[in-house]
Amino acid sequence: MFALPPLPYRYDALGPVISEETLRTHHGKHHAKYVENVNSLLAARPVRFETLEQVVAHASNTGDRKLFDNAGQAWNHAFFWSCMTPRESRPGEVLSAAIEAAFGDLSTLEARFVQEGAGHFGSGWVWLIARNGTLEVATTHDGDTALVHDGLPLLVCDVWEHAYYLDHKNDRAGFLSAWWERLVDWSFVERQYGASTGEGEAWRFASVDVAAVGA
Ligand code: MN
Repeated sequence: MFALPPLPYRYDALGPVISEETLRTHHGKHHAKYVENVNSLLAARPVRFETLEQVVAHASNTGDRKLFDNAGQAWNHAFFWSCMTPRESRPGEVLSAAIEAAFGDLSTLEARFVQEGAGHFGSGWVWLIARNGTLEVATTHDGDTALVHDGLPLLVCDVWEHAYYLDHKNDRAGFLSAWWERLVDWSFVERQYGASTGEGEAWRFASVDVAAVGA
């Protein structure tokens, strides 16, 4: 069984960019439902998985769309919560150098990220990814996740309407700009970037409670 990961901050910590009402519904209803769906889909199968990353890879490799969508969404949301902090942060030296090499400067990256996210058609996710020794902005549709594509995800923002509609209505670009300015946890991004270069471990979804696996 996989558990819904607790948020690393209070429900009211991310306002006004993400209100308490939005976060309670997003984490407590949407994310919880994806985790619940993964558990019920897996309960009917003989195969056991130790990590959610293994479930996502298995579902992707076998074309199991229903499992993939739910496992991808369970992973993406947990990663998304980890990408945010109510505390002000800035990229450190190493990450800044990588951003300058790939985009010129941080504000050019911000503009690219906001543009890609705002221009993404329908539901999905906008990512900063380390791939082939450089950084890229990319988007995925619906429950798809950068976890199964080339490279290592460093940062993600949810651009499904449930992520911003209560607080920003149809202004997805406004949400993305405010999110970038106020909520990105650059120390998390920096750690992920380090992992992409062999320094330390990449973020992982909290693993299964082993005692529950055989139950
Ligand atoms: Mn969402």
